[in-house]
Amino acid sequence: LRSYGLDDEDEEERRRRELRGRDPIQIRSGQVVRGIEGLIGNTPLMRINSLSDATGCEILGKAEFLNPAGSPKDRVALQILKDAEEEGLLYPNTGSCIFEGTVGSTGISLATLARAKGYRCSIVIPDDVAREKVELLEKLGAEIQSVRPRGIVDPRHFVNEARSRAEAFGDVELVGPHPTDFSTSGYAGSDGGQGEGYVHRDDLVVSSKRSSSRQGADEVVNETQARGFFADQFENPSNFWAHYNGTGPEIWRQTGGLIDAFVAGAGTGGTLSGCAAYLKRVSCDPDESKEGGGFIRRAGSASEVKVVLADPQGSGLYNKVKYGVMYSSTEAEGKRRRHQVDSVVEGIGINRITRNLQMGLQCIDDAEQVSDDEAARMGRFLILNDGLFLGSSSAVNCVAAVRTALKLKRQRGSDPPPVVVTVLCDSGSRHLSKFHNNDALTRLGVSDAGSSDITDILES
Ligand code: PMP
Repeated sequence: LRSYGLDDEDEEERRRRELRGRDPIQIRSGQVVRGIEGLIGNTPLMRINSLSDATGCEILGKAEFLNPAGSPKDRVALQILKDAEEEGLLYPNTGSCIFEGTVGSTGISLATLARAKGYRCSIVIPDDVAREKVELLEKLGAEIQSVRPRGIVDPRHFVNEARSRAEAFGDVELVGPHPTDFSTSGYAGSDGGQGEGYVHRDDLVVSSKRSSSRQGADEVVNETQARGFFADQFENPSNFWAHYNGTGPEIWRQTGGLIDAFVAGAGTGGTLSGCAAYLKRVSCDPDESKEGGGFIRRAGSASEVKVVLADPQGSGLYNKVKYGVMYSSTEAEGKRRRHQVDSVVEGIGINRITRNLQMGLQCIDDAEQVSDDEAARMGRFLILNDGLFLGSSSAVNCVAAVRTALKLKRQRGSDPPPVVVTVLCDSGSRHLSKFHNNDALTRLGVSDAGSSDITDILES
């Protein structure tokens, strides 16, 4: 070996060897992420070729469906849990349980992170959502309660039900598998019930004097006590901040500030408000824009990013943004309100101003209304022309993005072409039984289920 010079271990190599024993490879190479959390965010921004070419504009989609649990809600779930942990409201591997009311995506993200972080997860979900979402939640070992869709003022609405269950934690018998605590018991396997690795709260030692800001200064929080935690995606500001500090800055950097409009729907309003507030801030203040990457804005571009709400049929937000009155189109037609039962588009469209929407409401400039029929045709068009298999909210976003781009082009020409960014929220695989099922669409009243003709949208 000496003759090959291989025993002359230099100082650098010795140091690396030493580190290898204790230091995860990621820290040195920067190429390996630590667990599933490391896969969240930093999603690509893709040019949607078909829509860009057809409109003569640049229509870009933030590929949020590439997050590990399949939607932008991964960012939100991670932020909510981190903030709760920092505040001392949640401690992993204590049998603590995260409660949430959700139409799917947030539940799937929370249930995924609960597994990775050592929490239990209990989800309340309306019983009319695409069944594959519920199946996925079951696979992730979440406790699931299906409820009939109801108005938000009804105590049995899925959000209210989740809050009540969190408050009653300890009195409520939870079903479903518990997370395994590797640190105390080694691998216990998944037995679908109280796995060996589950630490029962009676076995835990009281050890902490840490107090939580939300609990009041005098109350001592027990770090090892199992607790119920209501994630509260609609009202919890961690949702807004996940987008203000994550999605928004990423879009600004990825476009190099060459962005004329941002278009998104609102479910909780977190994505729209958080991105809107960040993009307005950096695009309105030339000094601030340096923070986004230190580039020079394109000459001739509008200085301020325009923010447009993409609103599905039956939601009340469109009229709120346009005319200041919360009134849904279906109500105007004397029909049922959205989200009572069986909406074609899942995840966006509401009839109230949530706290997360309120936080960026003043940044929303305009709104585009999109019918179920238009969304369904756009969904198919993107599959056939781009190989993009997306969910219903992404399809609504794309219709509104096309309309916004065409309006901008009419207003200020196409040299340079307007750049419109929207959000591609989740994959079509979560919508196979509903949005991508022509029989289901026909049953739900979509007129030409099966068509992929978007000529009318391109001419609007
Ligand atoms: N798309 C899907 C599929 C969703 O589940 C949601 C959230 N309910 C949204 C879009 C809207 O995101 P936000 O809650 O940030 O408004």
